[in-house]
Amino acid sequence: MRVFAVAEHRLGEINPVSLELLNFANKIKGDGTSEAVIVGDDVRALSSVLAGCADKVWALSGSQLEHYNPESHADVLLQLFEKEPPDLVLLGNTSQGCELAPLLAVRLRCPIVTDVVGASVEGGLIVSRYIYQGKLMVDLKLNRTPCVLTVRQGVFKEGIELRGEVTELRLTPSKPLRRRFSRIIEPEEGEIDVSKAEVIVAVGRGAAPSLKLAEKLASLLNGAVAGSRPVIDSGLLAKDRQVGISGKTVKPKVYLALGISGAFQHVMGMKDSELIIAVNKDPQAPIFNVAHYGVIADVQELLPKLLSKVEERRK
Ligand SMILES: Cc1cc2nc3c(=O)[nH]c(=O)nc-3n(C[C@H](O)[C@H](O)[C@H](O)COP(=O)(O)OP(=O)(O)OC[C@H]3O[C@@H](n4cnc5c(N)ncnc54)[C@H](O)[C@@H]3O)c2cc1C
Repeated sequence: MRVFAVAEHRLGEINPVSLELLNFANKIKGDGTSEAVIVGDDVRALSSVLAGCADKVWALSGSQLEHYNPESHADVLLQLFEKEPPDLVLLGNTSQGCELAPLLAVRLRCPIVTDVVGASVEGGLIVSRYIYQGKLMVDLKLNRTPCVLTVRQGVFKEGIELRGEVTELRLTPSKPLRRRFSRIIEPEEGEIDVSKAEVIVAVGRGAAPSLKLAEKLASLLNGAVAGSRPVIDSGLLAKDRQVGISGKTVKPKVYLALGISGAFQHVMGMKDSELIIAVNKDPQAPIFNVAHYGVIADVQELLPKLLSKVEERRK
């Protein structure tokens, strides 16, 4: 299979989801190839980053391609796919990917599967995604190519090293563009992407009254605070801090779950963390089924003690 992964970049940096798409591509390509595609004005340096995980890299450059624009990007991608027909086109299940993927699928006249969270290649390609707002997971057998997939960020983190060859193509969009790039609005300072944090202190409903202490602990551990859905819904933390099927998938080195029951909708977003430590006053809480270490305790009582221990060590 020829599996193309459409890379994302902004302000000179590759979005890590691009490398995850290549990990996914390498997992399912069989005897075929994993091929990264990057679109921009000057993308040589970024192409070499992608080449470390791909069999081939297509660098589509041109003065009208400097900034992301769904019209110009879809146009030049389709120009490439006309000459180099894909079996699968992978995009991140990000704002950019969710915008580009249907444009490509319509023009390629092919099926699309969004928010893919798993894949296997037993007797054909099977991809998994949630349905009914996360209540069920389905396996879909893809028996038609090409097919466009958007892949959830943070799922396919493990990959192999390759040394792909880079092919540069100068391209211009085939039609005048109706939309134009205006400006980049930077997120406010201090905003954190929890899917990139190495240490996460996750606050559940049972630890909500101790949020301030949890934030202090996270900062002492150079980590980030995340939360379960009720904590986000109550407005204590921003939506982008939610972990779970309708939030982010995280795989930090340490995941400290405070007062979180362990509902599967939450667990699906953090179960692959390297080390899970759960604190809950209920010994039957399902979070203990996925935790490597469990502490049966009242978070309100434990957190101040834990904080003073960490502070002591930091001296
Ligand atoms: C379609 C759908 C999508 C969803 N998506 C998500 C999602 O992405 N992420 C998510 O998190 N949830 C999601 N949910 C909600 C999910 O089903 C659970 O309701 C939620 O995860 C529960 O959050 P919680 O564990 O913080 O709260 P609870 O289930 O109320 O658990 C609180 C826990 O804290 C413990 N506790 C209470 N007080 C203390 C204390 N003082 N010290 C120690 N422990 C204490 C309790 O024993 C309990 O185990 C979704 C639900 C649906 C239907």
